[in-house]
Amino acid sequence: MPAISTKKPYRIGRSRTGLGLFATKPIKKGAKIVRYFGPLLDSRKKKDDAIENKYLFELNGRWTIDGSVRENIARYINHACKPNAESDVSARKRKVVIRAIKNIEPGDEINYDYGTDYFKAYLKPIGCKCDACEKKRKKKRAEARAEKARLKARAEKKALKKAEKQTAKAKENPKQKLNGAKANGKLLNGHGGKSATRKTTAAKSGISARPKDMTGRENSASA
Ligand SMILES: [Zn+2]
Repeated sequence: MPAISTKKPYRIGRSRTGLGLFATKPIKKGAKIVRYFGPLLDSRKKKDDAIENKYLFELNGRWTIDGSVRENIARYINHACKPNAESDVSARKRKVVIRAIKNIEPGDEINYDYGTDYFKAYLKPIGCKCDACEKKRKKKRAEARAEKARLKARAEKKALKKAEKQTAKAKENPKQKLNGAKANGKLLNGHGGKSATRKTTAAKSGISARPKDMTGRENSASA
């Protein structure tokens, strides 16, 4: 890694996507931060035009800066959709300077917008990981979670209403319950209450068939 003079207001550090450039001192809005430099490529030369890497900075139709050289510290600056710096291009001078467009505090990552072409070619396919895009994704995830919870609550409410309706219906029509009890009683009587499993079922159903059951047992005991 190239040595950086401590006079510089930045350092290379770990960022979300790998390495990035971070402010070590306050940088005033409008201040020049670092130059983006490297060999000039002439698109009219076949050899130059064949070069392909992620650090090509197109100045105009003819000239491109190949920023992939190690000495070009500016190549560590990551893209952001809502950046705190910009690339100030002087095509005539074939010079690019990264300039602050906001006041930048120590510790802040420095970033600039790489432009639509780069975004489409390199960032869109993998998903932009800048703060603004991460925030958007987080918001979308939270919204999806809230929607899921809303649907679940609605389904639960519906189920509860249905259960309440059924209870109300059963109360309105007590004959149905009585019939059910009779049927159960018959069943118990028919088998003389000998089977333990059946008894448990009767107890679980909450129907008071026990007195009859007991009587049956007393009878069979006395017999
Ligand atoms: Zn983004």
